[in-house]
Amino acid sequence: MEKDFDFGIIGSGPAGYTAALSAASSGKKVVLFEKDLIGGVCLNRGCIPTKTMLHSAEIYEYINNSLDLGICVDNCKVDFAKIAERKRAVVEKLRNGLERSFKNAGITIVNAKAAILDKNTIEADGKTYSCEQIIAAVGSSPRIINGMEYDHKLILSSDDVLDFENLPESIVIIGSGAIGIEFSRILSAFNVDVTVVEIAPNLLPLADIEVSKRVERIFKSKGIKFYTNTSVEKIEKSDNRVHIKLSNGENLEADCTLLAVGRVPNEVEKVDGVTYIGDAAGSIQLAHFASKQALEKVIQIPFDKTLVPSVVYGNPEIAWIGKREQDLESGTYQKAMIPISALAKSQCDGALDGMMKILVRDNKIIGAHIVSKEASSLIQQLVIAMQTNTTVEELKAVCFAHPTYSEGIFECLMRLQ
Ligand SMILES: Cc1cc2nc3c(=O)[nH]c(=O)nc-3n(C[C@H](O)[C@H](O)[C@H](O)COP(=O)(O)OP(=O)(O)OC[C@H]3O[C@@H](n4cnc5c(N)ncnc54)[C@H](O)[C@@H]3O)c2cc1C
Repeated sequence: MEKDFDFGIIGSGPAGYTAALSAASSGKKVVLFEKDLIGGVCLNRGCIPTKTMLHSAEIYEYINNSLDLGICVDNCKVDFAKIAERKRAVVEKLRNGLERSFKNAGITIVNAKAAILDKNTIEADGKTYSCEQIIAAVGSSPRIINGMEYDHKLILSSDDVLDFENLPESIVIIGSGAIGIEFSRILSAFNVDVTVVEIAPNLLPLADIEVSKRVERIFKSKGIKFYTNTSVEKIEKSDNRVHIKLSNGENLEADCTLLAVGRVPNEVEKVDGVTYIGDAAGSIQLAHFASKQALEKVIQIPFDKTLVPSVVYGNPEIAWIGKREQDLESGTYQKAMIPISALAKSQCDGALDGMMKILVRDNKIIGAHIVSKEASSLIQQLVIAMQTNTTVEELKAVCFAHPTYSEGIFECLMRLQ
């Protein structure tokens, strides 16, 4: 029997919306279910609101450090209510754009929680929808730790911090993955007293060790306090403050704490024949990975899952791809590294903090690690080089514009040992 729809897609985050739009643009009939706001975590509570706030934080930081650049600004102040308002406006504008794209593509939107009844049937709002294929792109939620449950006032998730209307004076951020690092940077730029607690031996534990060490130096220079190799044993609340007992015996006190300890896939019925993508599939939890998975499943554009760039935003940006040096056996690779201050452009910008490291084996790049202004764009050049199997000699033959941060790639490769 003919089904109502070619595709039934649950969730409208990057995985779901990319699946829906690509299916519709290839002529398929699509129904998309969303129980909350269109755009998912990425648009409403993740990538976009954080980067919008971060931009204001960076501007404030630049202005405060602008005397050296010959710019004298008196009485520079933060209007946090305005920052929050702008963040909402940016998110809303992008959400409206996405909704318009769905409409233009003829996608049926059902604003309701969906349940999968079998591999061809979805139920939502008391109705059933028959679909040739079902894609579950239901995303993830902040991890909950026993004894440290979110109360949304003192013990916060990233969602709560994004809802701040006023800044706290102090915060303890537990966890230093991308989310913990980005919020540390945003809040400390606004003069919040930030302390980070990380259980692993270094900050940003998924990064190359030299990147982690560089981040630690940058945190120290910015007055962001941190503990590594340290876990939180207990969080107590009194006098409208949090009191945090650490494994090293120390006690911290702050206005609130952010648990940035990872995210867990949202629950959804597991049914054979249904495709699960994005954060819900439980592998790499990044928006660009989610949308690439959607394109692969729906319009068969394959991608290399070992070449997914990681970016941590802020000043300076941090980005990496491929192998980390600590995972390689010595003698099996070559290494090239420069301080970003070696580049003329970084001197022009006064953006001297950072490094670029490229790891090479058999004349091909196997890993690249960057801490620099524009690292989020720079890394893409190395992703393309790796994906296209470009050799070191071929890359050296590329003409890089001057003065740019991209020249760092050339400079680095010229120093290959
Ligand atoms: C603070 C923060 C910052 C981040 N920054 C970045 C970044 O800079 N870059 C990056 O790549 N990634 C970032 N991420 C991660 C990124 O947001 C996720 O990887 C991405 O949103 C995953 O997309 P998704 O489509 O799988 O799921 P989601 O975006 O989580 O969307 C899932 C959607 O499914 C809906 N849903 C769930 N169950 C049902 C149901 N039963 N019926 C109907 N609807 C349902 C949910 O309401 C949700 O809207 C960040 C995350 C956070 C929290």
